[in-house]
Amino acid sequence: MIRIGLGRDLHRLVRGRPFLLGGLRIESELGELGHSDGDVLAHAVADALLGAAALGDIGALFPPGDARWKDADSLELLRKAWALVKGQGWDLVNLDCVVSCEEPRLLPHREAVRASLAAALGVLPAQVFVKGKTAEGLGPVGEGRAVEALAVCLLEREKIPELGEK
Ligand code: MG
Repeated sequence: MIRIGLGRDLHRLVRGRPFLLGGLRIESELGELGHSDGDVLAHAVADALLGAAALGDIGALFPPGDARWKDADSLELLRKAWALVKGQGWDLVNLDCVVSCEEPRLLPHREAVRASLAAALGVLPAQVFVKGKTAEGLGPVGEGRAVEALAVCLLEREKIPELGEK
């Protein structure tokens, strides 16, 4: 059985915060505002994985109002979400992502971001891809006020009757 999952996230960019992508800190004037560390890509990936397995979403698992997740390491949240999905017997076929922002440029950091996500998920970097886009000056992303991430994943598992069809 295979399942597709889609995740999307957007964070405001402000001064005085680190810019994190998939667990990698990238040098930048602005960083993601968030209750957790704001890692927009880690959040989108977690939602894609959880959605594919119909196991909820990151906001339900780690509510932003909960003090436990204040400044949380989003890669750790991703690992927790993936552990839930793996626990239902799912394996990752591949993950593909798009990060949209004006600055910083993703390309010089792409391989490191892929490696970081792959390590967090226990898969090969070849199963993870990330593309960087700008928004051509349009909207909050184009004006440099926000960063957006989209993630799509494919999961597979053998049919496990006792788990039912979630
Ligand atoms: Mg988020």
